[in-house]
Amino acid sequence: MQENDFLNAGIKSYLNCVHCGKCLPVCPTYNVSLNEFYSPRGRVRLILTDDTDVMPLKVSKVAEAMSTCLLCGRCVKVCPNDVRIEDLIINEKIKLNKFRDNKFSVSAITLKALKNKRKILLKSALKIASIPLVNQLSRRFAPNPQGKAFISGRDYRFKAEGADASGKREEIKAGYFSGCVFNGIYPQISSDTVSSLIKNGVSVFVPANQGCCGLPFISSGDIKSFKDLALNNVNAFKDKDIDYIITSCASCSYSINSLYPSDFNENDEGYSEVLNFSKKLLNIWSFFKILEKRGVNIKTGKLKKDTDAVFHIPCHLSNLPGFKPSSYNESLIGEAGLIADKINGLKLKPLKHNYCCGNGGMFNIRHYDFSKEITRRKFEEIKEASAQNILTSCSGCMFSLSDQRGILKEKDAIPVNHLISFYARSLKE
Ligand code: SF4
Ligand code: SF4
Repeated sequence: MQENDFLNAGIKSYLNCVHCGKCLPVCPTYNVSLNEFYSPRGRVRLILTDDTDVMPLKVSKVAEAMSTCLLCGRCVKVCPNDVRIEDLIINEKIKLNKFRDNKFSVSAITLKALKNKRKILLKSALKIASIPLVNQLSRRFAPNPQGKAFISGRDYRFKAEGADASGKREEIKAGYFSGCVFNGIYPQISSDTVSSLIKNGVSVFVPANQGCCGLPFISSGDIKSFKDLALNNVNAFKDKDIDYIITSCASCSYSINSLYPSDFNENDEGYSEVLNFSKKLLNIWSFFKILEKRGVNIKTGKLKKDTDAVFHIPCHLSNLPGFKPSSYNESLIGEAGLIADKINGLKLKPLKHNYCCGNGGMFNIRHYDFSKEITRRKFEEIKEASAQNILTSCSGCMFSLSDQRGILKEKDAIPVNHLISFYARSLKE
């Protein structure tokens, strides 16, 4: 099959929909609205109608149905007829891009800030948006940046600790892709990732010129900015002597591993470099599995005080193909369980359903109240597990799970952390 035939097969896959409704119970937006308009099946039906001109549709209504899709991928996994729902929705979002946000809206300003390489703009935009009055007026949530950005204008090279000077063990060289949020908003997660890697004998290269992975843009239908950002990242890591590129953000790995190959085509500039970059990029948990297979003895740490936690599996991380669990923690949270096993003093509690957190990139900014309803449902299962901490591994999930205003009472607030930060801390304590 040629590339374009393949793309067309994806676009026309709406013809495979038999309206069985299997995708309905897994869709977060359908679950809280119980409205077909916000369901995978409803969206597929709208796209088919729009594409075949069966009847005129109100563009703003179709745009709303598409813009409320979180691109969580849950529907694709259960569809028995191989309807490529996400591809269809992304394609429709691109088609409708001309009906984009008002340029003075919070979402338009956020997108501008994310595209900006000087992180100062991103930080200032989010700081302004988190002023209570502005926040109240815009009815949007914005996290507070933790402090100085992780990358600041120059490349970094971190030497592996305990590197084998005798050269007996082959050096493992990795690049680190921080993503804009773990660089500008939660820089501690980037430094915890790098320190966990170097303590396990990996040397790490961090290029200054990397930027946003592009997910907020493609989820807004802006394919041009998405491709520009992808090429910028490819160039930042190009010709560097590294075997792997690691990210600690599930949404970045979804964007780079899944969307870069599906949304670039062979006529695009840098197509083969984009594919190579995509193949080289691994989420942090898959990388630790590889290290273990390569015979690295992954270090064990210990927390000062015993603690329990739930791990929220980001939609973009769940069900990695071909993974076989070998411990309780792995059967609970997939590959991330390998690192949970290495933290003495951490006890993971199960979540009943592992519902979506309601973030969905720009969904949480554009449709804050809708998003909060999905987050509320998430907190019901978290509260049922009654854990002291929430752990996860995605920048978007961290936003939504930290935004407990209006969901939990302040005194009930549960701290949210990245599992890699717990691991890094356990290695120091
Ligand atoms: S599961 Fe697939 S075939 Fe069934 S309604 Fe949903 S999209 Fe259509
Ligand atoms: S990708 Fe997620 S939000 Fe979008 S239609 Fe599918 S299940 Fe619903």
